[in-house]
Amino acid sequence: MRKKQFKAESKKLLDMMINSIYTHKEIFLRELISNASDAIDKLYFKSLTDDSVKLARGDFKIRIDVDKEARTITLTDNGIGMTEEELEKNLGTIAKSGSLNFKEENADDKNAEDISVIGQFGVGFYSSFMVSDKVEVVSKAFGESVAHKWVSSGADGYTIEECEKNDDGTVITLYIKEDTENEDYSQYLEQYKIEELVKKYSDYIRYPIEMEMSHQVPDPEKEGEYITEISTEVLNSMTPIWRKSKSEIKPEDYNEFYKNKFMDYSDPLAVIHSKTEGQATFDALMYIPENPPYDFYSKEYEKGLQLYSNGVLIMDKCPDLLPDYFSFVKGLVDSADLSLNISREMLQHDHQLKIIAKAIDKKIKNELAKMLKNDREKYEKFFKVFGLQLKYGVYANYGMEKDGLKDLLIFESSVADTYTTLKEYVGRMPESQDTIYYACGENAQKIALLPQLDAVKEKGFEVLYFTDEVDEFAIQMLMEYDGKKFANICKNDLDLSTDTEKEAINKKNEESKDLLDKMKDVLVGQVTSVKFSNKLGSHPVSLTAEGYVSLEMEKVLSSMPGANQGVKAQLVLEINSNHPVAQKLADADDETVEKYTKLLYTSARLIAGLDIDNPTEFSDTIADLMQ
Ligand code: ADP
Repeated sequence: MRKKQFKAESKKLLDMMINSIYTHKEIFLRELISNASDAIDKLYFKSLTDDSVKLARGDFKIRIDVDKEARTITLTDNGIGMTEEELEKNLGTIAKSGSLNFKEENADDKNAEDISVIGQFGVGFYSSFMVSDKVEVVSKAFGESVAHKWVSSGADGYTIEECEKNDDGTVITLYIKEDTENEDYSQYLEQYKIEELVKKYSDYIRYPIEMEMSHQVPDPEKEGEYITEISTEVLNSMTPIWRKSKSEIKPEDYNEFYKNKFMDYSDPLAVIHSKTEGQATFDALMYIPENPPYDFYSKEYEKGLQLYSNGVLIMDKCPDLLPDYFSFVKGLVDSADLSLNISREMLQHDHQLKIIAKAIDKKIKNELAKMLKNDREKYEKFFKVFGLQLKYGVYANYGMEKDGLKDLLIFESSVADTYTTLKEYVGRMPESQDTIYYACGENAQKIALLPQLDAVKEKGFEVLYFTDEVDEFAIQMLMEYDGKKFANICKNDLDLSTDTEKEAINKKNEESKDLLDKMKDVLVGQVTSVKFSNKLGSHPVSLTAEGYVSLEMEKVLSSMPGANQGVKAQLVLEINSNHPVAQKLADADDETVEKYTKLLYTSARLIAGLDIDNPTEFSDTIADLMQ
């Protein structure tokens, strides 16, 4: 028998477990029980279509035995078991390899990293090494004639050999560590402790978790004396939490279940527990996380809810239950309407599932709307993390879902201290305002400095601040809100002037035609026109866009992979007619007009957040003028 080495990553994780100072070492039991339950699920599932499985639903169980003398805890399940290869593959390497990479990036504090890895990813089987010196796994896979024993005393490796075992399933024996100054490992050998841990973490496991319990009972023969009675008891209630009535469940129960099941270390932001009857009958338990799942922004991330049929897991991540814009939602759906043997392909076309998905979508929207109304602070926290998803949801599929999502959007604005909904914005609009104004930029601070903003604010109009790239696209998809159109204040067609003002500025532009043509010639190929404007407040110059494509949209479109570089905003250089520079330009000779024009154009590009082609020339010209 040869000693084998763990894969490097696994060894690292194991080392961490063995030396862990994680305070919740007790989770090892939950992890082992949950593995056992999964293994039973697999065999039970098989039994539905395979007659060679001799066990019936009621035969499946998990058993815990404790031997105080020998300092061992033994977990026995009659699930699907593992072959030699599976023992090697499943226990010799860590499946969630992404989790370790994550950890290394954040490794500034050994203690913190330990806790966050264990807390976030749940380390499964390896957590046994937090409390054990040695772990022994004896397993016989369903359909195999031989059993195998896997043994490891930690990071120095493991052995696998053939062994005796009659029934299918797995027996795991933990050799519990000796107590140390700081750690009381012996507590896990107490029956009350095991009972407590099972109730706390594994109560909902659907198979009985049995343990031999001893109780002191009065001796029927000798009065005043006690005898020890031994009986096998089932420790868990076996009712999944989502099947219990809401009044039975405490908020902690919901949170605890969430953290264990979906491997998060923070409590969820919101819990949605519903029992639906009617067109479709199902229980749903869903969570809105506080933080994005660790792989949320990676290609590997899969959305979906767990799907149960009458308490039996039939799919771990059913994507058809969640729209993309709610891909962050975690949870499960349990419905008796679904057949246990339904295949993934069939499921996609299942009518019942579609009805459930629709109902789920509505429930999540209602929950978010409720949060928005009743707990603004929480909603803003939510939106900062997941708001982008909703905005993409408005934009996606040609705006098919926009109506259901538009009232869940919030934006910063020139008025509100924090965020405003579109509805609130419209509620604040003065009678003279018929358009919803917005401006785009990197962040609120930068947008607040845009020269175009002053004129709009002067009119007493509020401006929404769009800081995400998708914002303007989403709003264009929306087209209007409550009958009000949207307008980008940096677009040339923004019309805030009165008729007299308009007349005055048109006249000014006509009179200055020669000058403006000269300036346009200087900027040939860069702007489509140069004109005087009366909407720049105290600022001398700005760039606006003509036509459909705004400056922000151009930036986004041209940064996309395979971008169509032909999509360009049509730029207009606007000079403030009320600013002294207007007069300066009028008085200047041709050579100076050229210099001024370049300067004004370049500074307008800077204000708009655009690159400049020749910063050196810009700087030289400024210096030149100073002399
Ligand atoms: P996870 O359960 O998250 O996949 P673990 O490290 O806990 O990670 O377990 C690794 C794998 O080992 C499991 O996915 C499963 O295939 C197998 N396994 C663990 N315990 C058992 C068991 N009691 N019976 C059958 N297979 C098991």
